[in-house]
Amino acid sequence: MAYQHLFADGTPCDLPAGKVVCVGRNYAEHAKELNNPIPSEPILFIKPSTSLLDMAQPFSLPEGQGCIHFETELALLIGKTLTKADEQTAADAIVGVGLALDMTLRDLQSKLKEKGQPWEKAKAFDGSCPVSAFIQTEKVGELTDIPLRLSVNGEVRQDGSSAQMLNPIVQLISYISQWFTLQPGDIVLTGTPAGVGEAKSGDELLVELPGQLSVNTQIL
Ligand code: ZN
Repeated sequence: MAYQHLFADGTPCDLPAGKVVCVGRNYAEHAKELNNPIPSEPILFIKPSTSLLDMAQPFSLPEGQGCIHFETELALLIGKTLTKADEQTAADAIVGVGLALDMTLRDLQSKLKEKGQPWEKAKAFDGSCPVSAFIQTEKVGELTDIPLRLSVNGEVRQDGSSAQMLNPIVQLISYISQWFTLQPGDIVLTGTPAGVGEAKSGDELLVELPGQLSVNTQIL
């Protein structure tokens, strides 16, 4: 079934499924765990709309590509066109807050990085971006302190908050729009807290905005 954005309260969302703009190393502890330096400016990359999946449905992973990591991230649904937007305009364009898994072919990414080649194949493959339904932004509270958590087979593996981001949400969206126009239906992924690890067939995942949203899913 084709992916379509959903609101968590069942309100229909007629925004089209657009591109996903992602930021690398937006949490210092995660940069450290992969032995990466902390960047002085946001590292951006894009997943196409064909990367999107409904996280609530069990999903499968590419086979024969080595180690695949989960990265749990806050996802922002964009509702207005943003080109070189200031922070207030960027803030006003966020229509929903949800969760995403930035699935990453980590072995392949390491090889591509070694050769100085783009990451695309490791990050932007079909189904590389399972996303949850979105909570309308006005119901979420302060964007500067949203907790997020991932449990795998009952064990908490990632537990962070947007308060730990090197580039906070609104500044990040404004920055992205200096480079890439964001369109209604695009999603922004905001980086992953520490605790990334290997995703395996049969894993049961619980992805949460504690107190607001929780998604149980399974890797086939
Ligand atoms: Zn990521």
